[in-house]
Amino acid sequence: MSENCPICETISTKKKTSSLTNAYDCPRCGKFVMHSDTEGLLPRLFDNEREKDKEEKVAVLSYAIRKMQKREPWTILNDGLIQAILKNPLPSLSDQANNLIIWFAENLSSGEQSLIQPLTHQ
Ligand SMILES: [Zn+2]
Repeated sequence: MSENCPICETISTKKKTSSLTNAYDCPRCGKFVMHSDTEGLLPRLFDNEREKDKEEKVAVLSYAIRKMQKREPWTILNDGLIQAILKNPLPSLSDQANNLIIWFAENLSSGEQSLIQPLTHQ
């Protein structure tokens, strides 16, 4: 079933994994499982935020969830983890450059050229 990601609002695949949890496969955030109570918390985290601050919180969450998937294929999110993630800043410019180089190494062969588009890697 397609539904907006509860974090970034990108159209995602949603599966009910139990009566109280949902699994999302989001093109931006990746794969994560969330309790329905935690889903209810998200709008309250973003309420009363200026649009720029909301976008930054969404980016911090999406980035952290993507990064956690390098260790576990499905990230399990709860209120405490989300609150802890939101205390972190976005990656620095040098961290972003390092991440891009790592992405190139993981996704391209030596000498291979690739056209990077918005949907190539979010
Ligand atoms: Zn998302």
